[in-house]
Amino acid sequence: MNITEEEISRASSLVEIEELVSKCERCLLYQTKIKDVAGAGSKTAEIMFIGEAPGKKEDDTGEPFIGASGKLLNEMLQSIGLRREDTFITSVLKHRPPSNRDPLSTEIQACCPYLNRQIELINPRLVVFLGRHAMNMYFPKLKISEVHGEAFQAKLGERKQDFLALYHPAAALYNGSMKSTLVADFNKIPAILAKIMDSTSSPQESKI
Ligand code: URA
Repeated sequence: MNITEEEISRASSLVEIEELVSKCERCLLYQTKIKDVAGAGSKTAEIMFIGEAPGKKEDDTGEPFIGASGKLLNEMLQSIGLRREDTFITSVLKHRPPSNRDPLSTEIQACCPYLNRQIELINPRLVVFLGRHAMNMYFPKLKISEVHGEAFQAKLGERKQDFLALYHPAAALYNGSMKSTLVADFNKIPAILAKIMDSTSSPQESKI
């Protein structure tokens, strides 16, 4: 079904987003997917993690980040005392690209309204990009090798949003020094979150 961008931007809950994703034919990935992987976690999460696209295990189950990179993500979350269920975890694409190939720019274009709306609905304090695909969707000129581990603030629509870009866990799994960098960057999250909380002493703007 050809879901329009307007329909997605009018979705009033994460459940509604899931329903739209399940009917989505905005790109061709619906033809090869097994399950929809819209995202999972808390609808009031203070921190949101955005990966690239579901892999085989995610496609089989409908859960984001439950394969090898999910295991590393879980370990890193645990090491900084964050419960996975208190965060929100999703990816740029909500359906698996065949053979885990890189997302096509047409697929990213087609899928990005879902992520935009998820961010609006959750209104997190910090958006963490896992890998360059997520980061470049919003900041096409940034290079992850140059900006990883450094939080920054930018406008997202009408509001200011804090961001942090990290290497993707899947890339780090095959590169020891990248893994050390990822873990070191990840360990900065509590201090980054504390600083954001400090700087916004007034209550968070209304959640939708
Ligand atoms: N990699 C991603 O980017 N997303 C997932 O859900 C799983 C692996």
